[in-house]
Amino acid sequence: MKISEILNNKNVTVSFEVFPPKEWVKIADTKKVISEMVKDKPSFMSVTYGASGTTSGYTTEIANAIHEGGVTPLSHLTCLTSTKEKINSVLDELEENGVENILALRGDIPKDFVMSEAQYYHHAYELVNEIKARNHFCIGGACYPEVHPESANRVEDIAHLKEKVDCGIDFLTTQMFFDNEKFYNFREMCAIKEINVPIIAGIMPITNAKQIKRSVELSNCSLPKKFERIMERFVENPDAMKQAGIIYATEQIIDLMANGVNNIHIYTMNKPDVAHQIMEGLSAIINE
Ligand code: FAD
Repeated sequence: MKISEILNNKNVTVSFEVFPPKEWVKIADTKKVISEMVKDKPSFMSVTYGASGTTSGYTTEIANAIHEGGVTPLSHLTCLTSTKEKINSVLDELEENGVENILALRGDIPKDFVMSEAQYYHHAYELVNEIKARNHFCIGGACYPEVHPESANRVEDIAHLKEKVDCGIDFLTTQMFFDNEKFYNFREMCAIKEINVPIIAGIMPITNAKQIKRSVELSNCSLPKKFERIMERFVENPDAMKQAGIIYATEQIIDLMANGVNNIHIYTMNKPDVAHQIMEGLSAIINE
């Protein structure tokens, strides 16, 4: 099923993100994670794509496992370091495997990579154009409530986002954020700029203090004082930190829903127990 239909037909959606293994030998472990997660009946599940594309086959394999588990898959696809031929062969493979949804991404710029005119793709909108021409896929895109780290400012970032959406994006998924006010401000800016596609709020349950440090550095997202205090208090107690992280993410989602945000995406970090506890904490709320 196309995600645009799911977003249209359901009052509330909660979806999960998983990542494929780095090595083929671990594919069975990831499939086990999927088989656990589908029990919570997420509205759809997305599977990330290795930036260089070398593990693209793993993404398709995991998308198939999600589909077999009775859940609609969303395949991520990055383009920056790929040729047009490579992208088209991945699109052929996804189409042949019945995948109907793609999150079209540029990908992060690898260390020591030099952007050049000779490259085929420079930005995600070029990939969106390519996918759109096939007239087969529902297309998602990434967006950044706290501004993409490469953008000079919010105005420039939103202008580029508008251009990307107008190329044929059906929905957006946000970078993780921990302060809902950032999301509400971003939603308002999108409305002003007439970015009218559904914006799915990306929530990352932080279950260990080391993980948060790395995630925050990579993503440019800020930590509210409330969350910093939780980390300081429980940094030496992994079980307490995990419990607090799950509760914080659950409360964030409840506040989003109370403010009319009906589409939530959980960055599960391949932890079925974490995803399950959040779903349990929301059971009456998401089935309202
Ligand atoms: P773009 O939309 O191309 O934007 C990148 C930068 O270029 C922004 O600063 C934008 O403002 C600017 N820009 C856009 N258009 C123009 C233009 N015409 N002229 C000048 N500047 C422009 N990475 C992975 O490797 N694999 C994944 O599976 C993956 N999944 C992700 C899922 C989500 C929900 C998110 C939010 C990110 C994900 N990423 C993933 C990370 C993503 O690849 C990086 O954030 C990357 O740096 C930007 O990708 P983009 O698609 O947003 O790029």
